[in-house]
Amino acid sequence: MPATILDGTRIAQEIRGEVAAEVKTMVGAGVRPGLAVVLVGHDPASEIYVRGKVKACEEVGIHSETLTPADSATTAELLGLVEDLNRRDDIDGILVQLPLPTQVASKKVLLAVDPAKDVDGFHPMNVGFLSTQRPGLVPCTPAGVMEILIRSGIPVAGREAVVVGRSDIVGKPVAMLLTNANATVTICHSKTHDLPGVCRWADILVAAIGRAGMITRDFVKPGATVIDVGMNTVTDLAEFQRFFAGNAKREETFRKKGSTLMGDVHPEVAEVAGALTPVPGGVGPLTIAMLMFNTVKAAKMRRGSRVLEPSRA
Ligand code: NAP
Repeated sequence: MPATILDGTRIAQEIRGEVAAEVKTMVGAGVRPGLAVVLVGHDPASEIYVRGKVKACEEVGIHSETLTPADSATTAELLGLVEDLNRRDDIDGILVQLPLPTQVASKKVLLAVDPAKDVDGFHPMNVGFLSTQRPGLVPCTPAGVMEILIRSGIPVAGREAVVVGRSDIVGKPVAMLLTNANATVTICHSKTHDLPGVCRWADILVAAIGRAGMITRDFVKPGATVIDVGMNTVTDLAEFQRFFAGNAKREETFRKKGSTLMGDVHPEVAEVAGALTPVPGGVGPLTIAMLMFNTVKAAKMRRGSRVLEPSRA
């Protein structure tokens, strides 16, 4: 039986609806949550991401502003800008869009963001809060992975989870969230021996690698839930055909755009897995939804209000 497809677009819409209702209540009480996005220079991909974030803010009623220092901005200028945003009471969330130009000390700038406004959840203080199970801001994509599992009714406690990837922004925080949710977690990376064998242990397999279609059916225990975080652009025709030959919808997109977006999971996994997130339309939409959630969470936490995670609210 083919895998159940876990619809990230629907789940993200649900969360955005909940956030919008929360914002409405807060505005009624005189507080409009605010997000500042710092976009340095003119990286086309960053500009697209930022436009998506600003549009999402408009839709849920969050105030947003985009600061656009020039490509030539120095570390000192960006630190000054972040300090100003840290001081402003109408700004609850600060997001520094990466990558920053090479002359800027990115880590120094990220470290300067007030942890209470760090809606990306990358500040070491928030990393520490997550690992010690204290209230804090959780990175958006990993938080989105948990929302997909919870809202799809997939049990986590007591299950074997395998996370492939150990980056600070996806792999490690996903593994921490799964541990906090009482899964038994294994983290894999490029030096892991017998990766397919380790992955086959998983009841829940999370792929956060950045390699198109690397997770084939040999990595998957029949019936497992597979969460595909990967976002890879396939432009090579031979590679496209290897994955999607006979898929009329994909072929049409590829013909029109000259590329297609795919995850780290091979399409054949749908024949083995019990449930699977698609790419696009799986984890991706959750990232912006959780950014909206985090901005409201920051606004509430800064004002001493109690916050519940969305699916437990
Ligand atoms: P990253 O920093 O490059 O980390 C990739 C991880 O995969 C590393 O830990 C690396 O191991 C591991 N890896 C690479 N090749 C491997 C192999 N052959 N076997 C086993 N492990 C291997 O990437 P990232 O930032 O975590 O992102 C991962 C993917 O998620 C990318 O496709 C990215 O575009 C996507 N992503 C999606 C969203 C979303 O909104 N959906 C958000 C963020 C990222 P080592 O540590 O040993 O090098």
